Amino acid sequence: MAKETYEVIVVGGGVAGCFAAATAAAEGASVVQLERKPREQGGYIACGDAMKAPRDSKKYPGPIDMGAIADDDDVLINGNIDQIEWRDEELGVRKVLPYEDNSNVIDRYEFGQRLLDQTAALGVDQHFDTVVNDVTQDGRVTGVEAVRDGEPVTYEGDVLIDAAGAQSIIQEMVDFEALDTPGAATFEEPHYTHFGSAYREIIETPEPVEYENAIVGKPLEEMGYIWYFPRTPTEINVGLGFQMNKEPIPLADRLKQDIQNRPEYRGARVAEKFDKKDKLGAAIALRRPLDSMVAPGYLAAGGAAGTTHSITGKGIRGAAFSGYSAGRTAAMAVEDGDLSEYGLWEHNRWLYREHGEAAMLASRDAYNVAGSTIDVNILRAVAALLPEEEIRDIVGTETNVADLKSKALVGAGVIKNLISEYRSDTFEQLGVSKEELYESVTGVIETRKYVRSYEDIYSRYPEDRGTFENWLSERNRLDSDFYDALDLAPEEQKY
Ligand SMILES: Cc1cc2nc3c(=O)[nH]c(=O)nc-3n(C[C@H](O)[C@H](O)[C@H](O)COP(=O)(O)OP(=O)(O)OC[C@H]3O[C@@H](n4cnc5c(N)ncnc54)[C@H](O)[C@@H]3O)c2cc1C
Repeated sequence: MAKETYEVIVVGGGVAGCFAAATAAAEGASVVQLERKPREQGGYIACGDAMKAPRDSKKYPGPIDMGAIADDDDVLINGNIDQIEWRDEELGVRKVLPYEDNSNVIDRYEFGQRLLDQTAALGVDQHFDTVVNDVTQDGRVTGVEAVRDGEPVTYEGDVLIDAAGAQSIIQEMVDFEALDTPGAATFEEPHYTHFGSAYREIIETPEPVEYENAIVGKPLEEMGYIWYFPRTPTEINVGLGFQMNKEPIPLADRLKQDIQNRPEYRGARVAEKFDKKDKLGAAIALRRPLDSMVAPGYLAAGGAAGTTHSITGKGIRGAAFSGYSAGRTAAMAVEDGDLSEYGLWEHNRWLYREHGEAAMLASRDAYNVAGSTIDVNILRAVAALLPEEEIRDIVGTETNVADLKSKALVGAGVIKNLISEYRSDTFEQLGVSKEELYESVTGVIETRKYVRSYEDIYSRYPEDRGTFENWLSERNRLDSDFYDALDLAPEEQKY
């Protein structure tokens, strides 16, 4: 059997894999990137294609030149998105939240292709048509077994970066308990209820839509949403997603039904230039980032590490920064010769402490946990009632101190007044009583307190492996308090 040796092996040719491989190579490591798809389909994936401010280098760290990608007209399809809209048209509700300037609906295929080009240019060996089907380990993860162009190949390496997406099977192949860890293995394998299922098409409309500067979401009968993300005023990425702990929804049929009932989509059809290959569905991670994304010789990034926003399902940026972090840590560990959990802990530290967005995503997941306990009609009524800043706190990933102060204003008294003013026919239409609504809105305020407590705990995420178990006990105590507040039986608890 053919054998190849590299310092860093990256599985996955998506956003996380490219950021990881490019960063490790730029830091001086020898890197191979393995992708099961052929080159011409690399980086191609089911996606709503909405992406925040690609020119902002703080959001996209590392050697990948996002500015150059964003300047490419084939990638940057709609750079004028400046708002998010929540529309519950049945109820006459429209909430408008500001979105960062220069945000985009991109062409995901062209974007993926440019990422792969840049990654190769930074010195990464890319092996396409290469399916990883096993992991080798000996105290630490030592490499993978793969089939490349139909031939078996063994890849040996110092560090394996698992960037194989939300449906990564790499984690199932590693026997984490058998690795040389100082205490118990810290790596936590996700459960299927932590995922969502999503599907999209790209359609052409005869007339321009009036929301060409907005990414639009609207409710679904289960926890999830339908989206309309305009690439151009007449070319719309439409899709839907829901969480897998709910009743399954036939996604393509449900989307068709929605499109057929929208006046602006009368006469719309799947865009010819995209045809059937752009009707795509996939799993999506809707959980908090893994408590620890490292094991001896192993790092997880992107969908495989749960760095997706569990309410909105947005994961491009999380994949970029976690990929960067994994690549940087892998190169450092190779240079230091320490491939243990201690040596690789920097990946967790950077994401949770220094960069901090993993902490933000993990804290916001409390809204997903609480939302899953509420009937979807009550959720709709709550969304109709909540002030826009409050919704922004739930769907956003960035908060500054000034924001926090203003959010503290939305307290129980204010909500009581809002409910008394709100049209009762709206609630009746949903079959939601004022009492139920009041209880649920109070629940949101209560959940927000827990979000702040999670933020506090994650701000103290361990700097090194040594104190992880103590920190984890504290975090798990907060989980228990939160579940008690929500009155959740053990089988209903997300983690
Ligand atoms: C329908 C849908 C809509 C979405 N909309 C948005 C959006 O609008 N905005 C946003 O920011 N995020 C969105 N997301 C989420 C976002 O697409 C993901 O979070 C992101 O793509 C994750 O990137 P990744 O690199 O971790 O994984 P992926 O992009 O999934 O890449 C993983 C790669 O690994 C390869 N691979 C897997 N297993 C193996 C193996 N055994 N051997 C070799 N190769 C393997 C796969 O072929 C794939 O190319 C959406 C997701 C879905 C499903």
